[in-house]
Amino acid sequence: MAIYDPKSRKAEEFINDEEIKATLKYAEENKNNFELIDALLEKARPKKTSDGWSCAGLTHREASVLLACDDKEKVNKIYEIAEEIKHAFYGNRIVIFAPLYLSNYCVNGCVYCPYHAKNKTIPRKKLTQEEIRNEVIALQDMGHKRLAIETGEDPVNCPLEYVLESINTIYSVHHKNGDIRRVNVNIAATTVENYRRLKEAGIGTYILFQETYHKESYEALHPTGPKSNYAYHTEAHDRAMEGGIDDVGLGVLFGLELYKYEFAGLLMHAEHLEAVFGVGPHTISVPRLKRADDINPDDFDNGIDDDTFAKITACIRLAVPYTGIIISTRETESVRGKLLNLGVSQISGGSRTSVGGYAGYSSDERPHDTEQFDVSDQRSLDDVVHWLMQNGHIPSFCTACYRLGRTGDRFMSLCKSGQISNCCLPNALMTLSEFLEDYASEETRALGHKIVDNEINNIPNEKVRGIARDQVDYIRNYNENSPKGEDGRRKRVEV
Ligand code: SAM
Repeated sequence: MAIYDPKSRKAEEFINDEEIKATLKYAEENKNNFELIDALLEKARPKKTSDGWSCAGLTHREASVLLACDDKEKVNKIYEIAEEIKHAFYGNRIVIFAPLYLSNYCVNGCVYCPYHAKNKTIPRKKLTQEEIRNEVIALQDMGHKRLAIETGEDPVNCPLEYVLESINTIYSVHHKNGDIRRVNVNIAATTVENYRRLKEAGIGTYILFQETYHKESYEALHPTGPKSNYAYHTEAHDRAMEGGIDDVGLGVLFGLELYKYEFAGLLMHAEHLEAVFGVGPHTISVPRLKRADDINPDDFDNGIDDDTFAKITACIRLAVPYTGIIISTRETESVRGKLLNLGVSQISGGSRTSVGGYAGYSSDERPHDTEQFDVSDQRSLDDVVHWLMQNGHIPSFCTACYRLGRTGDRFMSLCKSGQISNCCLPNALMTLSEFLEDYASEETRALGHKIVDNEINNIPNEKVRGIARDQVDYIRNYNENSPKGEDGRRKRVEV
């Protein structure tokens, strides 16, 4: 029997079934232990320090007690603290990205995904470099600066060389004032050497969802193909970090297994990365299973309702205060709206989940043939940006951390020192200004100007505040006679 050891490099030891079961038992026994719950809430609450905020986080056992608690008043406290943490470390900024599907060829047998190899009805498609260029131009014309590339797993039709070439193509496209400045990658588990090559290609975060931490269920849900190897998949983030990728993203596909089991496994995975590499996951995604080509979510027994989903997200926020939480367009506008107040820090907007879903389609047209799953929030990026601002958030297109070396533990220490308001806030306002001038509708631009003018006063450091003001003025008044950067394009400033 495997013994629990967060420092072990073996999947079954750092995600240990016995430990998860013991955690769930402990959580069930203590879910009405209000003395313990109050102490945990107090532990999780952010504390002001001389130079910022600090937050203790919670262990998987502690956070599981909060997740098990059904008391309305305590659950509301969890929500309140999740919001406090979000504001202490991320302010009211929400980072925006879009997925870009490169290929849906897949040799795996994942029973919840329409790309599974046995699906003979879905058309298979892999973008050429020319098609990628067109997709990138369409994404730039919407205003995107940050992408997450997605592929099925197929060593023959979609080898790593293709992914590397595609990343190169994506970074090389500069249409009008547009750029893609950060490419995050969501591709199948691979070798240390391949992760090294991805790092060299300049990727941001390597994202890989565990789907389920329950080994037996994992094996049943992935009956065939390389992904059926539970240990190889679960140990992938370790290999990515060994390959030099500082920022890795975790996630569970909620709906496949019992959520309490997944929650404990997810936090144990985060604790493992912290124990071995000294830095936890950069992001955690919380996707829920969706209807797709030959997939019916009702065929799966473990779907969760919106309230449970909100509680899971808030409890993740309390447990890992420095980790970004991502929510995709799998969720509706109203679910996304609620979760934004419970600790979510990144959302996608204007997304298409089909291979070649952007170029040549207007914002209300969407191809369904190669789609990975139904998109619930189908609004345009402009609508999403407008909605965020109306609800008191600052949409951010910032991608500076990666270029300025603020990855891994350096990002975490920045977060902990409270210096984020002297870099992330100005960067958010400058990149939002780019969006407003280059891509926004008149209504969104007018609202955005008010927000930027207000928020700029909240940058604590006087010098940085001045730099941000100058840059916002420069962007707003930019024309063909304005000074240009060395590349002949509009100058960019990042702090
Ligand atoms: N092929 C990569 C791998 O092996 O992990 C991942 C890329 S896949 C395009 C991205 C994610 O989509 C998967 O990890 C899975 O969690 C999610 N996904 C698959 N089918 C889904 C469905 N029916 N509804 C919602 N999400 C789904």
